[in-house]
Amino acid sequence: MKTKEKPAKKKETPAKKAKPAKKKEPLNWWKCSECGYVLRAAAAPEACPSCKHKCAFTDVTCYTPECGGPDNPDPQLLKPKR
Ligand SMILES: [Zn+2]
Repeated sequence: MKTKEKPAKKKETPAKKAKPAKKKEPLNWWKCSECGYVLRAAAAPEACPSCKHKCAFTDVTCYTPECGGPDNPDPQLLKPKR
């Protein structure tokens, strides 16, 4: 007979102190909505390094193998939408 018993699980603390071997932060590609400047950073910058505006950045990271994965920006997203 099976008894549904939950074994006292030890709460696993999130790995905060022991840092795993240097892991690169995932870098995304960002495109400035103002000037179309594309840069690579973990997070969208507050101000565009190119036009110096606080503009919206679009994540144009490639998420499909077709365009080479996250190491590359997605050419489809870089194209101006029409
Ligand atoms: Zn810009």
